[in-house]
Amino acid sequence: MRMAKDYYKILGVDKNASDEDIKKAFRKLAHQHHPDKQSGNAEKFKEINEANQVLSDKTKRQQYDQYGSDFVQGNHGGGGGGGNPFGGAGGFDFGNAEDLGDLFGGFGDMFGFGGGSRSKKQQGADVVVDAEITIQEAAFGTEKKFNLNKLGKCDVCSGSGGAPHSKITDCKTCGGRGQVKRIQNTILGAMQSVATCSDCHGSGKIPEKRCSKCDGTGTHKRHEDLKINIPAGIDDGQTIRVTGHGEAAPYHGASGDLYIRIHVKEDKNLHRDGEDIHSDVHISYPRAVLGGEAKTHTLEGVVTIKIPEGIQSGELIRLKGKGVTKRGGARGDHYVRVTVDVPKKISRAAKKLLEELDEELD
Ligand SMILES: [Zn+2]
Ligand SMILES: [Zn+2]
Repeated sequence: MRMAKDYYKILGVDKNASDEDIKKAFRKLAHQHHPDKQSGNAEKFKEINEANQVLSDKTKRQQYDQYGSDFVQGNHGGGGGGGNPFGGAGGFDFGNAEDLGDLFGGFGDMFGFGGGSRSKKQQGADVVVDAEITIQEAAFGTEKKFNLNKLGKCDVCSGSGGAPHSKITDCKTCGGRGQVKRIQNTILGAMQSVATCSDCHGSGKIPEKRCSKCDGTGTHKRHEDLKINIPAGIDDGQTIRVTGHGEAAPYHGASGDLYIRIHVKEDKNLHRDGEDIHSDVHISYPRAVLGGEAKTHTLEGVVTIKIPEGIQSGELIRLKGKGVTKRGGARGDHYVRVTVDVPKKISRAAKKLLEELDEELD
């Protein structure tokens, strides 16, 4: 299990820090460690950026406070493997909550970038949805359908922003770079700044004729049906990140991510503890003494289990490999807690038998 990162510590703020405190701390540290500066440190900068991305976002911060940094990084300890939400190999794709590109773009105005190799394209918003699943679906994995109403790629121009058959050319204003440079005179001397080109909105491309459906943005609100594989072993409160399935970004920008928050419904017969499942079984006093069979609920439905002779109330019977699917396909165990019922009222005949037994035991 990897250590959760303490984002508050990374930014040097305390847990009750206001949004303003976090912003200030982030700006200060980002200045200090920006890789373009002599004192810069790319690793440190990345870490600061990651911390800020979580703590400056109300929802992510709340989840982080509740679940720790694992909520975006997957807390299924152990090495790689697993299935991504679309069924291939690879992890859950909780991804790394990093997006240096965006930050470089954001800081472009402050530091300038020699060569202007990067343009600040727009970034699509992240989308968060909730999914309620049963304890069985969580244990074995399932497929869920989502109908999302979000900013998606324009279905007429496929996101290009150009009218059908219209040519797309490099933006003349910025020479296709998406950015324009400016020299400003400041008290610190001449400072070069880089701004997003206002003609092409940072995309570097201009259609000869704009698409009429999306007015050249390449996006519009639309419904999207999405099927997502919920991986086996997922637990209540975990979040799946599906990269690139958030809202589309106008003007050729990168799409945001989709976050699926998992809620596992309470089950009245089964209780989960990590990768193990617990259930109860009630047996009579004679059955406890003599052994025999009893029925209990499991992830696979009601099954008959063997009760060994002389079992005590409160003892656990282990059903090996009948728990939750772990990474790699093995399963946790199922524990059945035995309760021996002592009846308050019994028949005259039963009472007679017990009295005889009582005498025998004396
Ligand atoms: Zn369009
Ligand atoms: Zn331009």
